Amino acid sequence: MDKLRIAIVGASIAGSACGILLQRSKKFDISIFEKRAADAMLSQGAGIGFSPAITQQLKEHDLIDQDFPYLDLTYNPSFVYEKAIDQERLLNDSKLILYAVNWATLYAQLTKRLMREQVHYNSQVTAISRENDAIKLTINNHETQAFDLVIFADGYDSIGHRWLFPDSKINFANYILWRGLTPIEKITDPARFLEIFTFSFYTRGVAAIYPILGAPTLDNKDKLFINWAVYEKSNQQHPLFPQPSDAHKNIAPDKMPASYLNYFKEVLSKEFSPFIREVLAGTLPPFMQAIEDRDASAYYQDRVCLVGDAGILIRPHAGSGAVKGFQDAFELEKVLTSSNNLETDLQQWSNARCQAATQLLNLSRSVGKFFVEEAPDWNALTREEMQNGFSAALAGRHYSYSK
Ligand SMILES: Cc1cc2nc3c(=O)[nH]c(=O)nc-3n(C[C@H](O)[C@H](O)[C@H](O)COP(=O)(O)OP(=O)(O)OC[C@H]3O[C@@H](n4cnc5c(N)ncnc54)[C@H](O)[C@@H]3O)c2cc1C
Repeated sequence: MDKLRIAIVGASIAGSACGILLQRSKKFDISIFEKRAADAMLSQGAGIGFSPAITQQLKEHDLIDQDFPYLDLTYNPSFVYEKAIDQERLLNDSKLILYAVNWATLYAQLTKRLMREQVHYNSQVTAISRENDAIKLTINNHETQAFDLVIFADGYDSIGHRWLFPDSKINFANYILWRGLTPIEKITDPARFLEIFTFSFYTRGVAAIYPILGAPTLDNKDKLFINWAVYEKSNQQHPLFPQPSDAHKNIAPDKMPASYLNYFKEVLSKEFSPFIREVLAGTLPPFMQAIEDRDASAYYQDRVCLVGDAGILIRPHAGSGAVKGFQDAFELEKVLTSSNNLETDLQQWSNARCQAATQLLNLSRSVGKFFVEEAPDWNALTREEMQNGFSAALAGRHYSYSK
């Protein structure tokens, strides 16, 4: 019998995981299309967090090396800066077991496990059509290839998602992220940040700060960096964004307008303690990213699957982006390698993945609301009020790395 011809669109986290797992079974004829160049992604990316459980699962599936490098984070304090007395006040704290991973290290480990001849880099899927039982993909606007099944792992702006759900919209959350990666040598008191996931709350949102190791291909592999991200709401008389939608854009550091940079520097000097300010000021200009999400009613329809961010797109507060992509891939591999009734089993896979992702979507929206969108006056908040507010946002749900 002919092997099932499977196309995977996107060779980042979810696409690579699907590719590696499916190619190992030797039951399929797999082609992976990635619009970027092979080496374009290794210098990009910053930090992501893994629970011990997912790290173990990735090792068991041989998706990462046994000595995969990460930093152990064990403590999660939340501060607010009392400017009048120039001091930080502890708002909340908890223990955690979280592994801080460099995105590029994870990507590199996946890439080395893919069979090079199956991955077509510089190959953007530009059109999709259906002909009888086949799904046809047009690559770079000219060449067309036919497949029995297509797995779209093409991220937040997925062409596959738009094809299945033409009315589906990406929602801008009305807040943005400023982010950067500060080399540890720029920090006067690095011990203050090691093994620690720090939150620093301020008028328009919260800064999240934790250490990570350098990317694997650069000469900074064993160096330490402080990964930081400042969530900032854009919808209340924001000086840079007269309309909330004005903030709905991503800006790379080299394109950052001087007015944005000056505004951000002013926020740093007014809203953060000297410790936090030093970290955030260590990478200027920062990156600016719009926070978005998007739901989906299915992960599968008529020989087309969605995995990772191409399915349900979740705000970063759930700490789940990469993990969700891996779980989609693990479960999909089980179905494709062992099903006797592919159509029924893919429908079931779709329902289960949709349900799991919807729970994470709801968690991320609820935490985003408390931390940013409808944030209270942090300076007026007692520890007890903070704990109650956070518990209400979690509503019985918990993070996999909470201790
Ligand atoms: C370069 C890069 C850096 C990132 N850095 C971080 C980080 O530091 N921290 C973090 O938490 N998350 C990061 N992410 C996002 C993170 O990978 C995802 O949120 C999550 O892991 C789910 O991954 P994914 O594979 O579903 O989607 P993505 O990682 O977004 O991957 C989608 C892939 O599909 C490719 N693609 C898109 N459209 C097409 C098309 N039409 N044809 C062919 N290929 C296409 C893209 O080039 C990309 O490689 C990064 C993503 C990328 C692409």
